[in-house]
Amino acid sequence: MSAQVSAPQIQFDNSYARDLVDLYVDWQPAGSPRPQLIRLNTVLAEELGLDAQAMASPAGLALLAGNQVPAGAHPLAQAYAGHQFGHFSPQLGDGRALLLGEVIDTQGCRRDIAFKGSGRTPFSRGGDGLAALGPVLREYLLGEAMHALGIPTTRALAAVATGGQVMRDRLLPGAILCRVAASHLRVGTFEFFAARQDEEKLRRLADYAIHRHDPALIELPESERYAGLLDAVIRRQAALIAQWMGVGFIHGVMNTDNMTISGETIDYGPCAFMEHYDPQTVFSSIDRGGRYAFGNQPKIAQWNLARFAESLLPLIATDQDRAHERALALLHSFVPHYEREWRALQQAKLGLKGQGEAELALAADFLALLQSHALDYTLAHRRLADAAAGNEAPLRQLFGTAEPELQAWLSRWYELTQHGDAQAKAMRRVNPIYIPRNHQVEAALTAAVEASDFAPFERLLEVLAKPFEERAEDAAYAEPAAASVTACYKTFCGT
Ligand code: AMP
Ligand code: MG
Repeated sequence: MSAQVSAPQIQFDNSYARDLVDLYVDWQPAGSPRPQLIRLNTVLAEELGLDAQAMASPAGLALLAGNQVPAGAHPLAQAYAGHQFGHFSPQLGDGRALLLGEVIDTQGCRRDIAFKGSGRTPFSRGGDGLAALGPVLREYLLGEAMHALGIPTTRALAAVATGGQVMRDRLLPGAILCRVAASHLRVGTFEFFAARQDEEKLRRLADYAIHRHDPALIELPESERYAGLLDAVIRRQAALIAQWMGVGFIHGVMNTDNMTISGETIDYGPCAFMEHYDPQTVFSSIDRGGRYAFGNQPKIAQWNLARFAESLLPLIATDQDRAHERALALLHSFVPHYEREWRALQQAKLGLKGQGEAELALAADFLALLQSHALDYTLAHRRLADAAAGNEAPLRQLFGTAEPELQAWLSRWYELTQHGDAQAKAMRRVNPIYIPRNHQVEAALTAAVEASDFAPFERLLEVLAKPFEERAEDAAYAEPAAASVTACYKTFCGT
């Protein structure tokens, strides 16, 4: 006889609902007609202090499908605005998402548990409030891959097929993603209240963000506190974007509503990983002007942070000239913060002795070589680690006819690196061998959506969970797609 699994008991502590009254709307999930658990992230469940077995039980599924709101939850739709492709939308908000509540995880960190695809809300505008299975699985995969790469990100706790259908360009299976985040505060959350000149709510929001993400600032006088928040967010975003750039991640829709205050990556819609190195790379079908191209991401982050700074102006100082001056100085600091992160990353990725002029020129020349010969960004760095260990052959093979240029570059590199096994090991800890290759992601999603075959999704998740450890049996996952496939690859907005 199997033991009775009791319903999940979740210790919620809902600070957003408590402290930010009037900044959200109480709302309930629509529920799912015939829910099916596609995947529960048991490791994350345990990290959150949840009983994974109970979460996987029928009672847990009822919760994850939005059919049963658990005791202690306070489901709500958050208000936010946002600049989308440069244009301000004063009201976006959770149109197909709900914050279920917050828990304190086993490390003592407060984490949001939220739904995506849980039905219409007062912020849905023309949308149906739903999510299709493919984009839900994409977000699951990409978030977990980023986490394994050591990059701050929201994560998936579960993916549930609702049993209902969603109308897109055709009828598709519907799904709900259960998402975990350090918070769902966005630049756009601040823009919402700033645009309405509601200083009381704006201050409450900023104080809340400070309590949650930068508690050390509470001690500061008001004249320093909000500038401190801006500074902290700028630093976190500079670090985050540098990490994206280090692995070739293209977010695809860096609107201000998709930029967090926590510094976590959020909203994996039309995102993708770059294969051959080219700063102009764009995969998103909606990004026609290339605003969110790979190489533009640091500049766009700074642009978004300028919108954040503008929103905070009334709080930074009563004298608005002074507030402007302060905000501008902080915004300018984005570039040195980013560059410091980037230099450190280059040093680690190329295994360089230092971060001097010669090293930086060498790093830039490596990228120029990759660009001019359309070489795979991920593999080139990984094969350089092999060269550090004394095995140049894989790198030479990758470069093919560009080998003479590689040799010239390598002779400079050997002067500036401490090659050897220890160096190679260190390089392999920062240069992944497995990234979510676009063709592999598509194959996994297609099998799931078209044939209810989740094996490729599970397998890919397993490979991406250990991205730095090369395994013979996973060799196929390290391979780039054929150039002809990459040239035509398009991702669509995750709706
Ligand atoms: P996103 O593109 O997912 O970052 O979403 C941008 C805005 O559109 C947010 O306010 C979302 O809540 C809203 N939205 C996106 N898809 C839907 C949908 N299917 N139904 C309702 N609102 C949506
Ligand atoms: Mg979004």
